[in-house]
Amino acid sequence: MRILVLLMSFILLVSTCSCSVAEEALAPSGVTYQIFVGSFRDSDGDGIGDLRGIIDRLDYIESLGVDRLWLSPIHPSVSYHKYDVLNYEAIDPDFGALEDFDRLIAACKERGIGVMLDLVVNHTGEEHPWFRQACEALQNQVDSPYIGWYNFTQGQGMHPVPGTDWYYEGQFGAHMPDLNLDSPDVRAEIARIMAFWQARGVCGFRLDAVTSYYTGAPLANRDFLRFLSETAKAVDPDCYLVGETWTDAATILTLYGSGVDSLFNFPAADSTGTFVQAALGGKGAAAARLMAEWNAQLRDASPASMDAPFLTNHDLNRAAGMLRLKAPFEKAAAMLYLLMPGRPTVYYGEELGMTGSGLDENKRLPMVWSTAEGAVLCAPPAAADQKQRLKEGADVQDTDPDSLLNWYRQVIALRRQAPELARGVMTAIDLGEPALACYRVADDGGEVVILMNLSQTDTLSVSLSALNAAYVDGCGQPALDGDSLAMPPVSCALLRAE
Ligand code: CA
Repeated sequence: MRILVLLMSFILLVSTCSCSVAEEALAPSGVTYQIFVGSFRDSDGDGIGDLRGIIDRLDYIESLGVDRLWLSPIHPSVSYHKYDVLNYEAIDPDFGALEDFDRLIAACKERGIGVMLDLVVNHTGEEHPWFRQACEALQNQVDSPYIGWYNFTQGQGMHPVPGTDWYYEGQFGAHMPDLNLDSPDVRAEIARIMAFWQARGVCGFRLDAVTSYYTGAPLANRDFLRFLSETAKAVDPDCYLVGETWTDAATILTLYGSGVDSLFNFPAADSTGTFVQAALGGKGAAAARLMAEWNAQLRDASPASMDAPFLTNHDLNRAAGMLRLKAPFEKAAAMLYLLMPGRPTVYYGEELGMTGSGLDENKRLPMVWSTAEGAVLCAPPAAADQKQRLKEGADVQDTDPDSLLNWYRQVIALRRQAPELARGVMTAIDLGEPALACYRVADDGGEVVILMNLSQTDTLSVSLSALNAAYVDGCGQPALDGDSLAMPPVSCALLRAE
């Protein structure tokens, strides 16, 4: 009997594997890679990362298994971060030219990688011609259509227009005047900007500063998100939008009422979020339960949307510091968020364990291609007051099977075998062991079970027959012995429902 069961599971295993291998050639991983462009790769020796630099590093990006890039803003701007845009339809000369952008899109397309831009429409740069013309009109006491493009008030307000009794709204400072998003002209311009980049091959947009569109007015923000979403999808139904919603869970659920594809899951991110806390505390079961509850709430708010889990981004401290610079904690946090339903986003260098905290500039330090003497890296942002503490760069980690880089590659490769993770329904399974995260994810095409051991010390065994699932693949060397799957400390496994 036992032999028969073994034989049957072997046949099932073989058939499942050959099937998933065939799918694997085509299946996207559903993972996005966030690039802070000026710090990633410099192609022309001026110390500033650029578009050609990204093209030069597509082998590396492809080796991660990600299928989408989110580029930080690439438009002309006076700042190093370029979140104060001066021209939405051009490329900052620091980063290259439109031809370089077209070349990047084409090179990415050959590899099955989509490119998403950062859409910064809460505000423009102070030197944007629209704002300059509006201010000059107010100063000269003449009319201008651009006065209606910003939120000017007379008598009092946030920032004064010199030489007048007018003020303007600038939630992020005087250098970033907020656009009047109620203006039909502004909305038409935003629609034009999106269509311009969609026509050049962009597959989606990361929406900057969603909660500041209408500060303190979540319902107005929801409605504006709906406008953006409908506008983008009218041009390209597959265009993907993900919003920066740096706020609480209840507000995020309200914003999902817009039907937008995704909103970044800030409550699960950062040092206090579900992933880092579960990794540090070995609390796999609690993390699976919390994430299943969240995904059910999200589905209720917007059935067609998907979660956007991440650990950190360009505004948050680097994950390595939160995870005490210890690889086992970093690996635990990585497998946890990379195997969640939805579309996870990896912040560049997180896969190496790059460090940085405090000033924003420290969170955006140069990508560490190598720590060898004379290695060509970007120059750090001028105001950065921390040095990179990472010891081994991408070159060394590439050849080390136990490196964090190869862990990211392995976990993302595992995810590619489970297309259900994109849009499936998540159900947590309590195995009575706090360190074990276990959950089912099912969609119309199939059903997988994800199993993770977040313990840093103990190997834990699970009966597969109790889960009605067969082992497919894993990371961290899960060992199958008959019906029992032994999960070493910090390991994960993909099972397929029988
Ligand atoms: Ca450069």
